[in-house]
Amino acid sequence: MPTICWFRRDLRLADHPALVAAVEAARAADDEVVALYVLDPALWRSSGAPRLAYLAASLRALDETTGGRLVVRHGPAEQVVPALAREVGATSVHVSAATEPYGRRRDDAVEAALAAAVPDGPGVPLVRTGCPYAVAPGRLQTGQGGPYKVFTPFRTAWLDHGWRDPAPRPRDVPWATVRTDGLPDAPATDVQLPDAGERAARERWQDFLREDLAGYDVDRNRPDLDVTSWMSVHLKYGEIHPRTMLAELAQAGRGATGDLATSVATYRSELAWREFHADVLWHSPGAATESLRPVVPEDAWADGPDADRAFAAWTDGRTGYPLVDAGMRQLRAQGWVHNRVRMVVASFLVKDLHVRWQRGAAHFMAWLVDGDVPQNQLNWQWVAGTGRDAAPYFRVFNPVTQGRKFDPDGTYVRRWVPELRDVPGGAVHEPWKLPDGPPAGYPARIVDHAREREVALADHARRPG
Ligand code: FAD
Repeated sequence: MPTICWFRRDLRLADHPALVAAVEAARAADDEVVALYVLDPALWRSSGAPRLAYLAASLRALDETTGGRLVVRHGPAEQVVPALAREVGATSVHVSAATEPYGRRRDDAVEAALAAAVPDGPGVPLVRTGCPYAVAPGRLQTGQGGPYKVFTPFRTAWLDHGWRDPAPRPRDVPWATVRTDGLPDAPATDVQLPDAGERAARERWQDFLREDLAGYDVDRNRPDLDVTSWMSVHLKYGEIHPRTMLAELAQAGRGATGDLATSVATYRSELAWREFHADVLWHSPGAATESLRPVVPEDAWADGPDADRAFAAWTDGRTGYPLVDAGMRQLRAQGWVHNRVRMVVASFLVKDLHVRWQRGAAHFMAWLVDGDVPQNQLNWQWVAGTGRDAAPYFRVFNPVTQGRKFDPDGTYVRRWVPELRDVPGGAVHEPWKLPDGPPAGYPARIVDHAREREVALADHARRPG
């Protein structure tokens, strides 16, 4: 009687408590483990090509680490999983718990279908062990017994709570050989994807620890330097668990002083943001689509052809604001954008173009390789001022001052906006001030930031409630 380890957002073998549980249960019965991935056509259709191409590569890597035994089955999970359980006579199906609205609903449906999988039989349990976070969303509560609404006390409680040591990687897993529908073909994309898979994740992480961790606190806001870890992509697919990273961070910081000690704390704090957003979404599943609080009256949002034109200029990186345009072009080229620039482009869409955050979030989800519902939607809400612990609405990012501060020499802008490559230094952030105006081919500003900021603040003054 084999067990099934159903992989989802945990495409790795190391530090994988659900896999450990599946292997232990199989060994106790002197049997094998079926490595399953379910390719749900509904999910496949709704994801952007860059993410699908990366997922296909990550599945290939997982297949290799299982000795070619990954069983891919196509279809809705609530049909495919019970059918496979019946086919192989599985005693249990093991998963890392899903914590997002879609995943929670899907798992409840699969659990119910598994309970009835074998007519007149006892049912096959869906065993949830661990999840994609160091501390499970929903676990931490305030003194009053409610969810945390503010990040800093959440982080304090998260640090106090702590997390388990990484789970040992099972050796010599007795993988079962079962018919597979085959690995998916990667859809065509021009996006330059990073290397996928557990080994690539470990290598990237080790490179970061060795080369860039010490300077992280000082340089992490500089898109021109490219010194952040790029681990968001690997975390999204669970090619590494954050607990592994936290354990190795702690090791790197042991006895450290100065910049290294500060950088370790800052990096840990960034991971805490990831956990905070997952916790907020756990308690407020509606936050995936709706603002947690209104910031302007409904009539303040731009709609119609003018808004569509402005939105198109934003997605194409042709707003006339170089830092915004560089970020939007990096998104299309790499499926990834530096965090500081994500904040600037998001603020520009919501507060300069007055377009609802949901529209921008959907565009990000279509292109980001690390596109992840809790992180994307809640970060958009943070920038839009509509989130639980959000930036105040009156904090409107100025794309010029942000550029001059965080891309002082203009290197980042010139990297992504070829029309501006001949403009030297920081002057690249204000091409309209060049003696001959913006270089040929580069657009004039589609709006005046100072004016639109005033509009946004006036709208905010009229907010409901
Ligand atoms: P590093 O600076 O190396 O940070 C280390 C890790 O900390 C990241 O990998 C990430 O897991 C976490 N982290 C850092 N900043 C944040 C943050 N603001 N919120 C949550 N976790 C954070 N991140 C995603 O993973 N997926 C998304 O879909 C996503 N969408 C975003 C949309 C907007 C509008 C904004 C402003 C931010 C978004 N982020 C998202 C957060 C952040 O921009 C990325 O996690 C980060 O840029 C990834 O690069 P990195 O791994 O090099 O980051």
